[in-house]
Amino acid sequence: MKIVLQNLTKKFPSRTKKSKDEVVAVNDFTFEIPDGKLIGLLGPSGCGKSTTLNLISGLQKPTSGKVFFGEDDVTDLPAEHRGVGLVFQSYALYPHLTVKQNITFPLENLKGIHKMTKEEMAARALEAAKLVQIDTLMDRKPGELSGGQQQRVAIARALVKMPKVLLLDEPLSNLDARLRLQTREELRRIQRETKITTIFVTHDQEEAMSISDLIVVMKDGVIHQIGKPQEVYDDPINQFVATFLGTPPINIFHGYVEDGRLFIGNEAVLSVTNVPNQEVTVGIRPEGFILDENGPLTCKLNRVEVMGRDISVVSTHDLCDNAAIRSIIDAENNVDTNSETVHFALKPTKVHLFHKGTGERIRFEV
Ligand code: ADP
Ligand code: MG
Repeated sequence: MKIVLQNLTKKFPSRTKKSKDEVVAVNDFTFEIPDGKLIGLLGPSGCGKSTTLNLISGLQKPTSGKVFFGEDDVTDLPAEHRGVGLVFQSYALYPHLTVKQNITFPLENLKGIHKMTKEEMAARALEAAKLVQIDTLMDRKPGELSGGQQQRVAIARALVKMPKVLLLDEPLSNLDARLRLQTREELRRIQRETKITTIFVTHDQEEAMSISDLIVVMKDGVIHQIGKPQEVYDDPINQFVATFLGTPPINIFHGYVEDGRLFIGNEAVLSVTNVPNQEVTVGIRPEGFILDENGPLTCKLNRVEVMGRDISVVSTHDLCDNAAIRSIIDAENNVDTNSETVHFALKPTKVHLFHKGTGERIRFEV
């Protein structure tokens, strides 16, 4: 089921009576979510992710704009008739019911032609439980399960009605680091197996990047960029997107362009032929540094961290906003840790220029 959002907007009234300022939680969203894909809605806390999800599920009504499921306008359709499965950060299971009863719960109240027998419900619940690998725990109560197992029950409960759309709001946030990793791989597998169009909300860029077919990067109720994770990472539209994606984060320097050359301080670090003279913000990805004695960029060497396959050279520079510059270098390189400075050449495709005022990307040719 493809989903289309058309000029979707949600405003909330101000909470203080004196101020007339509204909060525009979702500002004029227009985009299409392709059928059968996993979409990551990504952005910092408060950017409107949950509100977007609630507008798609029908739990909230938009101030203006429309939501389509396939060709059908569902804007005024109540949530229970939209055929969506919902999973939230808090698992919200019924503590006094068993796993099996929790999963069958959404099937109990089906009416008319959809009404199911006990046997049909049990079969459907088992199928959903197998998908999330909790079929051996059916007689336990939620209190007898780990957090990860409880979240699987919640996912099975969302899947049991065979929804057309699965909406997940920060589903992994309550899990510990290892379980979070494992569960996100599971989600990916389940989505691939069921091919249910899935929207996954998270503030964790790594989580979104690792499992999404497409990511939607948002901030303050506005969509900044939509694309395949790698494409958005490699080709960010502005400084916010470049900074939000990537661990370790991109390194932000203050520089300027003069006569087709990019300067950081008095060092000409790259040729950028088609950019007019101006001050610029320079973003350099950690993997964009090449260790080179004769390289043009000089940083103060702090320390070297060994990470196995790679090493991370930690340095500082007066014109860099990051407290520490992290450069990821192949472990075969030797760094003279007694030296006070380290010299780098730069990979042009890993260097992004941004407009000083607006943060918009300035594209350049080498
Ligand atoms: P996210 O899920 O990305 O953290 P939300 O969608 O929950 O963000 O919220 C987006 C913005 O809308 C925030 O500024 C939030 O304070 C505001 N907001 C959300 N729900 C309400 C509400 N019911 N009433 C007023 N403001 C709200
Ligand atoms: Mg939220």
